[in-house]
Amino acid sequence: MFSNKTEFKEVFLQRLEMTCGKSFKESSKRDRYQTLGNMIREYVSSNWIKTNEKYRSAKEKQVYYLSIEFLLGKLLRHNLLNLGVDQVVQEGLSELGINLDDLEEVEADAALGNGGLGRLAACFLDSLACLNLPGHGCGIRYKHGLFEQKIVDGYQVELPEQWLRNGHVWEVRKADLSIEVPFWGKVETLEKDGRLTFRHVDAETITAVPYDVPVVGYNTDTVNTLRLWSAEPSPYLVHKDIMKYKRETEAVSDFLYPDDTHDEGKILRLKQQYFLVSASIRSIIRAYRKQFNRIEDLHEHVGIHINDTHPVLAIPELMRVLLDEENLGWEEAWHITTQTISYTNHTTLAEALEKWPIRIFQPLLPRIYMIVNEINERFCQQLWQKYPGEWNRIENMAIIAHDQVKMAHLAIVGSHSVNGVAEIHTEILKKREMNSFYQLYPEKFNNKTNGITHRRWLLKSNPKLTNLICEGIGDSWISKPDQLLELEGYQDDPAFLDQLFMVKQENKIKLAARIKEQTGINVDITSIFDIQVKRLHAYKRQLLNILHIMYLYNRIKEDSSFTMYPRTFIFGAKASPGYYYAKKIIKLINSVADKVNNDPVVRGQIRVVFLENYRVSLAEEIFPAADVSEQISTASKEASGTGNMKFMMNGALTVGTLDGANIEIKEMVGDDNIFIFGLTAEEVLDYYQNGGYRSFEYYHHDKRIRTVVDQLTNGFFEDVEDEFEMISDSLIMENDQYFVLRDFASYIDVQKEVGLKYKDQNQWLKMSLLNISRSGHFSSDRTIQQYADDIWNIRPVNKRPLTKN
Ligand SMILES: *Cc1c(COP(=O)(O)O)cnc(C)c1O
Repeated sequence: MFSNKTEFKEVFLQRLEMTCGKSFKESSKRDRYQTLGNMIREYVSSNWIKTNEKYRSAKEKQVYYLSIEFLLGKLLRHNLLNLGVDQVVQEGLSELGINLDDLEEVEADAALGNGGLGRLAACFLDSLACLNLPGHGCGIRYKHGLFEQKIVDGYQVELPEQWLRNGHVWEVRKADLSIEVPFWGKVETLEKDGRLTFRHVDAETITAVPYDVPVVGYNTDTVNTLRLWSAEPSPYLVHKDIMKYKRETEAVSDFLYPDDTHDEGKILRLKQQYFLVSASIRSIIRAYRKQFNRIEDLHEHVGIHINDTHPVLAIPELMRVLLDEENLGWEEAWHITTQTISYTNHTTLAEALEKWPIRIFQPLLPRIYMIVNEINERFCQQLWQKYPGEWNRIENMAIIAHDQVKMAHLAIVGSHSVNGVAEIHTEILKKREMNSFYQLYPEKFNNKTNGITHRRWLLKSNPKLTNLICEGIGDSWISKPDQLLELEGYQDDPAFLDQLFMVKQENKIKLAARIKEQTGINVDITSIFDIQVKRLHAYKRQLLNILHIMYLYNRIKEDSSFTMYPRTFIFGAKASPGYYYAKKIIKLINSVADKVNNDPVVRGQIRVVFLENYRVSLAEEIFPAADVSEQISTASKEASGTGNMKFMMNGALTVGTLDGANIEIKEMVGDDNIFIFGLTAEEVLDYYQNGGYRSFEYYHHDKRIRTVVDQLTNGFFEDVEDEFEMISDSLIMENDQYFVLRDFASYIDVQKEVGLKYKDQNQWLKMSLLNISRSGHFSSDRTIQQYADDIWNIRPVNKRPLTKN
């Protein structure tokens, strides 16, 4: 299509006029963005087709990653980088007087996810393609992604997100590959040739229409597929109230559920899950059937991975296809299903374990319910054989109990691999939360510590640091991120450390400009940028951070001789719309920000900024500018975290608890290059089990704590008097479930140490460099290679270098 900038310009101008019907001069930014996007998508299409052909002819095993969320963010710049045409395009556009950054601004984030879980799925797709592994994503094409957040008077306000308003240039609609997904109705049982057969009748079907998005690898011609399903009214269905049916159908892919911990308990949510799973499984089987004769060999050629329990109905759906459509017997179908499916657990928070009442499940999915019931009966029989008389154990492990279907139990029983997402998380699963299952199936349990794609979170988001690294150690680390270790040779090189300092300063200047633009606040770029960005949740303890800021404020106010290294505390977080407590924390952060930023006594030393609408594209501006990374969850609660890895890779130092992947970060960098504080997971779990924590005592005995907690309710803030009563109550009346007060003193101490360490610039830069150099381990390339080797048993196909077309 083009191989240099002159050709690029020619094609671009031609295409612009052809598709927009305007002259170049008349064209808008959007016209230009859309032209470029379409051009790039077409540019990849021949490699896309070739990749699929190669997968077919190689007959290699392929994996499908089923996820209810894919938090992709923007794709233009990412694709240009991976295709290796970033430079050519940028220069070509520049000669036309177009700034590529401006065009990127036009693109909407594809925010088809809430946070870590959805972003992990997006990072995995990138790594699969980059490693030439035959692996594809299956998800839902939500019409509205995660809500847009505005802050009004310090409160979160949610606006519907509209990413499809101007179309999505990266997708290709494939209506001819649509699938009919049945709901409701009933099951007829018939005897045919001495065999029971089942027919789902009187169902209301929904048409699942696939939209395929190419997933482009870096410096390779591999292009995998992300297939997103959209719900449309079925052309085959005759319905008495067509408008009602149309509304109800489209609702299935209308909204992403804006909650990443609780199960919303809505029929619509279960409909979404089965919709995703049924469309995906049947399109996988259809493709398999075109290529292979023996359905009995399915698991040799196909792996299906379920990202958390949301797609767990893949298990009974695959059973249904094998039993009812392929006419296999139960035992054989079960063997194939369990060998095909693998499962990742993402949480041990009890409230986040999905359960569905039978009264909802059974009528909506009658045939699937029958199969789950059969799986449960056989499983309980097996338990009875192994643990005769142990009623309690069997009841606790059952898939259906107390009129509920337990999705995590179904996932473990119906898959061959169960993995946690960080070492400590996997250990907690094995020793505690899922211990009885671990005893039964020790061979299924394994760990795959999460990762992030360094191509987006370093190459794309931090070009200045990328260039510096390349000047230092060349560019082979880009395909082998472990080679970042070579940076350690520069630990005692003052010139290199100086440049590292400059890069950070420049990134801080850019973020400061963004802060000014969004909030009007001036921040001091020589201050420490101390950042906590992630979903707002009690266990993530944004509250600990903001109470500590209140403590610093008080300290400065009461003692004029107190000094500290100036700090800018930056927050970004969305709260689930129904999560009242989390919204109160957002209000508190904004109230503290008002108080601090408007007080001439303290504002030279502390600033507080809340950046609204935290999302992937904003995150890309934030991580490169961070000095300090706040990873302060209550130990045992954060399964892994991935924000922690993005900060580390960009040279920020972690202030963190011994939780999730923080522990592995600490192991990589050593105790001197991280700031650890607070209770351990053991201690937290011991408190939960045996009691012994009384938050009131910490309130009573520590004046620093008493003051800040009192300030929540004593009129310190000009807001309505009882605005923060709920927060105060959670700490005192409800005994502080997340140990905020318990860890408070330890947090003060470690933060003081951070301030002191930062003063020694040279030492700090060395620590920062060491964090960058050891971050290669947290590339999702490492994670995906482990999934490929240990769980999926897939190999690279298509290893040729990029063919320019
Ligand atoms: C990485 C990322 C997350 C996950 O952050 P954690 O700190 O691990 O919770 C959430 N949202 C966005 C936009 C991200 O990029």
